[in-house]
Amino acid sequence: MSCDLEALTNADAADPDRALALLQECTALLESPELWLWAIAFTVVGAVVGALIGRRKKTVMRDAILGAALGPIGWILSLLLPAPRPAPRCPACHEAVAAGDRHCRHCGARLG
Ligand SMILES: [Zn+2]
Repeated sequence: MSCDLEALTNADAADPDRALALLQECTALLESPELWLWAIAFTVVGAVVGALIGRRKKTVMRDAILGAALGPIGWILSLLLPAPRPAPRCPACHEAVAAGDRHCRHCGARLG
């Protein structure tokens, strides 16, 4: 018996010994070093491609994480998501201020 789609589809719930043997066969596959190497390789490739996609929008870390976690779906999300807006700045001292602030937290200048 091998752990494949046909064996899983035709698993007989009335035969617990055979079902247990199939479960053990499938669980043993998770310990395969080859499987883990492929999983790690796909994660690294996903992160690198995601980072390359995010380079133009300056969202490298966000898109690398999306690519590592979701692979090609993360790449599509990276392409569709907008770049974050830059934080508003005080016209007097040029420090970052929160949107909606009436006065600058750094120099006290009145904002917009
Ligand atoms: Zn200011």
